[in-house]
Amino acid sequence: MILELKGIYKDYQQGKLTVPVLKDVNFSMEEGEYVAIMGPSGSGKSTLMNIIGCLDQATKGNFFLDGQDISACSENEMSDIRLKKIGFVFQSFHLLPRQTALSNVEMPLNYAKVPKKERKERALHALERVGLADRVDFRPNQLSGGQMQRVAIARAIVNRPKLLLADEPTGALDSKSGAQVMELFQSLNDEGVSVLMITHDAEIAEHAKRVVTIRDGILQEKR
Ligand code: ADP
Ligand code: MG
Repeated sequence: MILELKGIYKDYQQGKLTVPVLKDVNFSMEEGEYVAIMGPSGSGKSTLMNIIGCLDQATKGNFFLDGQDISACSENEMSDIRLKKIGFVFQSFHLLPRQTALSNVEMPLNYAKVPKKERKERALHALERVGLADRVDFRPNQLSGGQMQRVAIARAIVNRPKLLLADEPTGALDSKSGAQVMELFQSLNDEGVSVLMITHDAEIAEHAKRVVTIRDGILQEKR
């Protein structure tokens, strides 16, 4: 099992007000699965992704990633797990604007203290993998949206994560670039990477082999 969430609740504190966002979420995912989470805006998708991505802790409940109890982890342990096991792709790419595609992709390897030569080789390889071998020295503002997202995917896979997490990965893209992103996810999944993708687009969700829906913080398996 790559993911196991048991009775997950998440509340946000707004001054004196407690805002319940996730309500008793139970969800698990086998290694190698490709799952989409669908739900309207404000339903708690990003909140859930932040917990699964070890960026935030649940208010209540148990969360296991690759067999490890994350509910019991410190911030440092969580950042270590993020670096080693998870690749992130966001709707708005989150690239460093002044850095080239190559340095953007090398970034997680710097954190992982990979030696310089190997960093470059692995980043180049990841950029080749996403079809951007001829764009390694370009900065984000010299790339199209689809190309920026492919740089972000190269960055997400450069540490060879077990789990790829994507929050609305095609939300800012035209349909052709979106299709390229979906092709890449498929081929990564074919190689054994578990993929969890958040989307509110039913057509995009179709690419996953399993779809779950979230509504007002309540997760439901779609049948
Ligand atoms: P989605 O990604 O599905 O659009 P979010 O997970 O971003 O939804 O947000 C779900 C709900 O949680 C929203 O009502 C939002 O206002 C609230 N929320 C999200 N983040 C915070 C926060 N940091 N503090 C307070 N409320 C938040
Ligand atoms: Mg969101």
